[in-house]
Amino acid sequence: MLKYLLFDLDNTLYSARYGLEDAVSRRILAFLTRYLGVPAPEAARERRIALKKHGTTLEWLMAEKGFTGVDAYYAEIHPEGEASALEPDPALRDFLEGVPLPKAILTNAPLEHAVRILDKLRVRDCFTHIFDMRRNNFVGKPAPETFRRVLDALGVTPAETLFVDDYPFYVDGYRALGGQGVLFDEKNAHPDYPPPRIGDLRELGGFLGPL
Ligand SMILES: [Mg+2]
Repeated sequence: MLKYLLFDLDNTLYSARYGLEDAVSRRILAFLTRYLGVPAPEAARERRIALKKHGTTLEWLMAEKGFTGVDAYYAEIHPEGEASALEPDPALRDFLEGVPLPKAILTNAPLEHAVRILDKLRVRDCFTHIFDMRRNNFVGKPAPETFRRVLDALGVTPAETLFVDDYPFYVDGYRALGGQGVLFDEKNAHPDYPPPRIGDLRELGGFLGPL
């Protein structure tokens, strides 16, 4: 029986059409171009390859490039005001409040980013926990130890927890643990992805079973 819902944050709790994550990617690329000292297309190519192996750009830089400047990196890619395009989402709030299970956030971003987004959407108090990159010792999704640490903190098993994310690589990691992973695929970009796959969070009601 399900006991918890675990949500990704970016492009899952709000639509990709706001362009927030694209803006983060542009800032990461600008940072990489400078840090690696290579042209932008080369930095983008290296990042693309690295993200097949690492959950985040930061983990790649720390593991393979000797990078230690985490605070400066986060300040650059998550500037204040980054959430200005977002709007409060009363429909999301209604949905979250209507599901009689506790809910938490697992994000590969830092807490300051998560708080900005959740406050802008006006849903922060709908979640019991925010597991961010610092709390996860800079090991992000889809690392199995990260999912396990989060579930241990929540006092639940993978089978008792529904995890929702817009990134197949992360849903794959959760399913590999025996967990119930749902792909949020708003733009129908992954039609061949094994179900469950939803285009609207409200479809989650169909997967919650008897509560
Ligand atoms: Mg996401």
